Amino acid sequence: MNIDVSSNRDLDPVSLAQKLIRCKSVTPCDDGVVDLAAGFLRSVGFQTHIIESGPPDWHIKNLYAKFGHRSPNLAVIGHLDVVPAGNMSDWKYDPFAAYIEDGILTGRGSVDMKSGFACAAVAAKSIVDRSFDGAISFLVTGDEEVGTEHGTRAILKWCFDRSIKFDACLVAEPTGTGNLGQAFCIGHRGSLNVELASRGIQGHVANPEKASNPLTPLIEYLHFMKAKIWDKGDGIFPPTNLEITSIDVGNSTPNLIPSSAQAKLNIRYNRLHSAESLIKDLKLARNFFSPSPDNLSIEAQYNSDFFICEDKSLINNMFSAIKEVLEIEPKISAGGGTTDGRFISKYCPVVEFGVPEDEMHKANESIAVNDLIKLTEIYKVFYKNFFGTKFK
Ligand SMILES: [Zn+2]
Repeated sequence: MNIDVSSNRDLDPVSLAQKLIRCKSVTPCDDGVVDLAAGFLRSVGFQTHIIESGPPDWHIKNLYAKFGHRSPNLAVIGHLDVVPAGNMSDWKYDPFAAYIEDGILTGRGSVDMKSGFACAAVAAKSIVDRSFDGAISFLVTGDEEVGTEHGTRAILKWCFDRSIKFDACLVAEPTGTGNLGQAFCIGHRGSLNVELASRGIQGHVANPEKASNPLTPLIEYLHFMKAKIWDKGDGIFPPTNLEITSIDVGNSTPNLIPSSAQAKLNIRYNRLHSAESLIKDLKLARNFFSPSPDNLSIEAQYNSDFFICEDKSLINNMFSAIKEVLEIEPKISAGGGTTDGRFISKYCPVVEFGVPEDEMHKANESIAVNDLIKLTEIYKVFYKNFFGTKFK
């Protein structure tokens, strides 16, 4: 069936994005943003459920909204919390005024990611207006920017407790840089946080032979690991990369060799590695710089594994939706920072596409209004492609 995806012009993603931005929903504060989103989705026919999670000092409001009872069930996930505005004097306009000038919408969350939610929600109206053999579910968290336990993971637990299953997922997070539609994501690298502790013997800097400086092997080791080429990427995944994020000694005395030093690093790794293989490599290299493992301890503190969408049909749906609306061929990538898509990727294939990410978290975060109109059209075509033959 030929579907007119450009109908329902009464629904405007720009005004919905403005209303969402005007809620000061800096994590964990909600400021009415989830009720606003739920009210919109109810107005177009969704059933909504507020899912609350977290202790009193980190009380998070999340939303699950569903239309339809058949399969396939397409999950659309996103977040409505934002990072703080930062230094207010750096902003040209009030970051929560959602001011539009010369076709540019400025405000905290205009890129990450209230606009993405607004476009996906408005586009959903084109689906729910029609009878189709499927379901569309919005999983909207208020805890993405800081934590994850009481956000998407709490929503997924709520869903699985009710035997709700998903067949595919669209993440409406900002994607790619430059113009809209340059790239979309089908996965992300894994992330491994590692803490190192180097132990030596305290002493006077004038008598180094009677001490053992823990900083020397630590710095040499970090320098060696930073220079290591882990791989060159594989076309979809960027290369694996190690970044040193902290070196701490806490020594305020200039003539004292300290007894210990700590460091932290993060490795973003692609599918050519695993957290276990990286830790093994880190420990193997330690032997060149430290007399014993006790002198330089290496501990993995946090790991989120890489994920990749293997569903060619879902990838083609997004590719052709972007191509149809923008008349360009997007790059397919697994770059950029990871998203909550990693949690649902264990259960169904995930694609991610939203506005360009260049401005996210910056002062004067802003997006072209025209991009929101186009993004809404792309989501409509994506929904149409996904549910395609399922329409009655
Ligand atoms: Zn985001």
